[in-house]
Amino acid sequence: MPKSNAQQRALIVGAGIAGLTSAWWLERAGWDVSVVEKAPSFRAGGYLIDFFGPGHEVARRMGLLPALEARRAPISSVTSVDSSGRRRAEISAAAYEAVADGVISLLRGDLASVIRAELRASIRYGTTVSAVFDDGRVTFPDGSSDEFDLVVGADGVHSRVRELVFGPSASFVRYLGHHTAAFSVRDVELSARIGHRYQMLTVPHRMIGCYAVRDGAMAALMLYRSASPELPADPAAALRERFGDLGWVAPALLSVLPEDVYYDEVSQVDMPVWHRGRVVLVGDACGAVSLFAGHGASLAMTGACVLAEELTAGAEGAFERYQGRMKPAVEHTQEFGRRFIGWMAPSSAWRIALRDMVLRLSGLPVVRKLIRGSVAPDVDGVLTPAT
Ligand SMILES: Cc1cc2nc3c(=O)[nH]c(=O)nc-3n(C[C@H](O)[C@H](O)[C@H](O)COP(=O)(O)OP(=O)(O)OC[C@H]3O[C@@H](n4cnc5c(N)ncnc54)[C@H](O)[C@@H]3O)c2cc1C
Repeated sequence: MPKSNAQQRALIVGAGIAGLTSAWWLERAGWDVSVVEKAPSFRAGGYLIDFFGPGHEVARRMGLLPALEARRAPISSVTSVDSSGRRRAEISAAAYEAVADGVISLLRGDLASVIRAELRASIRYGTTVSAVFDDGRVTFPDGSSDEFDLVVGADGVHSRVRELVFGPSASFVRYLGHHTAAFSVRDVELSARIGHRYQMLTVPHRMIGCYAVRDGAMAALMLYRSASPELPADPAAALRERFGDLGWVAPALLSVLPEDVYYDEVSQVDMPVWHRGRVVLVGDACGAVSLFAGHGASLAMTGACVLAEELTAGAEGAFERYQGRMKPAVEHTQEFGRRFIGWMAPSSAWRIALRDMVLRLSGLPVVRKLIRGSVAPDVDGVLTPAT
């Protein structure tokens, strides 16, 4: 637990959504904040996320909504296509907005850059921590060491801080039976072919989704069932093998795969306790909900805000109160994510047909209500009322 005095120093490990948002709130609460990030430089682009729920309210409180709106991807519909690219079913943007109230679709990198632009703390890229102790002592890979009042592990689903302080990943990570790859790439021709509709091709156990972002760029997501969480040595080769026969834009996408394509197992993180001594985890590091749940960025921002609020309210018991407010929302969203697997990666042709039928009927209020229950878990009440 951090001591309470005027000169408090915080180290944040990971400059993703949770780390940057933690830095933002802690800075404003008077902390002296340092951030380390293992990537060599800021990661732009990435995958398309739907951003709504409590994170949207946190962004409003941070004054970020105008900048986020400016980066909003203008999605006109969500369309299911067959392997020739013919439309099978569609949900209009109006219907989607009705079910996902206030949703902003944007690139993960755009969300991160909007938060980063508001930070005073400098970020040390290309480095990490090699040892972390729960009394706040930290060693860095260059051999230097330091001591902090607070160490925030915001280093994602494969958190190093979690491993160093709480134990091996295997104790906390729940594999959801799929691998995923996501990337954005500039390709004017492909981008024009796809247009501003989120288009997805689904065959049993495999899915490709893509969308034209802006300036000839597009974002793509690939998802497939795999019995083992073990990642392939050559992700690009694994993707070519899995998706090469799929038709539609699959061959074109596979031909423009960037070298640094995001590739990972799809998993959730489930830990009984998120803090030890002066060390606390935020975001995916302690509560990844997975892309099936689709609210990870929103919850990462919410967790960062709630943590800073509780530290400001008083050091004594702050971590317990933070976890007490966040964990039920995370668990609820995780459960919802596990139920959503069958929607996003249906296991049979008839399940795909059923999902497409629901999309086709999305104009009906009763069906919208059903879809709303499937895309938006109810996590109201995590945030204190707006002032
Ligand atoms: C394909 C896909 C689609 C998604 N769609 C949505 C969506 O629609 N809506 C939504 O809200 N969420 C979505 N998510 C989830 C969302 O992106 C994550 O939940 C969110 O980014 C979590 O933020 P985070 O900061 O905890 O982790 P991350 O964003 O993963 O950031 C962790 C950071 O820590 C850094 N790091 C890792 N290890 C170390 C280390 N040892 N030392 C220093 N730094 C380190 C990483 O480089 C990274 O910058 C999606 C995720 C994926 C993969």
